[in-house]
Amino acid sequence: MAGGTGIVTFAETKDGRLTPVAREAVGAARKLADEKSFKVISVLIGDGISSLADNLTKIGADKVVICENPVLAGYLDESYCKILADISKSEDAAVILGGATFIGKSLFPRLATSLSSGLAADITSIGWDGDNILAIRPAYGGKALIQISPAGPGPQMATLRPKAFPDPSPDDSRSGEKSELAYDESKFGSRAKILESVSEGGQEISLTDADIIVSGGRGIKNADNYKMIKELASVLGAAAGASRAVVDAGWVSYSHQVGQTGKTVNPKLYVACGISGAIQHLVGMQSSKTIVAINRDAEAPIFKVATYGIVGDIFEILPRLTEKLKGMAN
Ligand SMILES: Cc1cc2nc3c(=O)[nH]c(=O)nc-3n(C[C@H](O)[C@H](O)[C@H](O)COP(=O)(O)OP(=O)(O)OC[C@H]3O[C@@H](n4cnc5c(N)ncnc54)[C@H](O)[C@@H]3O)c2cc1C
Repeated sequence: MAGGTGIVTFAETKDGRLTPVAREAVGAARKLADEKSFKVISVLIGDGISSLADNLTKIGADKVVICENPVLAGYLDESYCKILADISKSEDAAVILGGATFIGKSLFPRLATSLSSGLAADITSIGWDGDNILAIRPAYGGKALIQISPAGPGPQMATLRPKAFPDPSPDDSRSGEKSELAYDESKFGSRAKILESVSEGGQEISLTDADIIVSGGRGIKNADNYKMIKELASVLGAAAGASRAVVDAGWVSYSHQVGQTGKTVNPKLYVACGISGAIQHLVGMQSSKTIVAINRDAEAPIFKVATYGIVGDIFEILPRLTEKLKGMAN
């Protein structure tokens, strides 16, 4: 690997807060750094985000570098990449970590190319193998685990699968160094500009951050019945997901889709309702800690990955389950 004494983390933010995986990345970086007596440097890029620096030092960062400017309020591939590359060089990064989020999946391949580095994407564990990092990511729908040691002369990089790493607890007595990098348009400018941001709305808890997800499949039969999924999700404080069949039918928007061409989720509890368990769906959810499947076909493949299976009709089970849970909540 390249030299370096720093573990740099990209502290992704959303709506003025650190994303959960940004915190998880600091926890993973701290562990790696402690084994080598390296430093953890977290990078905050955006506008109005400098107050988050203390949160980062409390959970393990030794230093936070902040690049703030109104033009950075929204994510811009080119600018964010140039800034992170610049800071990684000045902080002597040996390793750079971020989240395997939509932003991370766009930023890190670009960063890896610009720094001539190897990238281990969407990993679920990381450690040292001598002077190289050794990361693991599930493949073939979780049937195989691939060990990856990124090659290349630049710093080694990895994106962490959200919720696969522990959320570090804050230590209020911890503090760290803070430094600011001035935004310089000639150095960090982007050819793209954000003209308008439109939020899809609807879902208060994002699928990738949710601890509980209730998902509906073609078994719900029509768009109107998706309200059964939403009702159960609301009682459980869960996010509502869907199979691609439901999204393709136009019953809910794409942002709800779980699976190979949708979101990869890793909640504590995943409730699959009327979902058959096609491999393309399983790859997006089978690392959930507990899976409950409700399907009227006892042979449905979803039962192979389910922790608990209920063979039955969702139109009978879901309303009863929702009522029962409502009663327990009151
Ligand atoms: C390249 C590619 C990418 C893909 N990406 C994705 C992806 O990201 N996510 C994804 O989900 N799929 C994806 N798919 C599609 C995938 O192959 C399946 O077609 C899809 O997951 C099926 O959705 P489903 O389980 O809702 O529907 P079905 O397979 O039709 O299953 C419906 C299930 O509901 C059950 N059921 C019916 N009525 C009831 C009832 N009243 N009570 C209880 N159970 C009932 C049935 O027994 C059945 O098991 C992809 C496919 C391809 C080719």
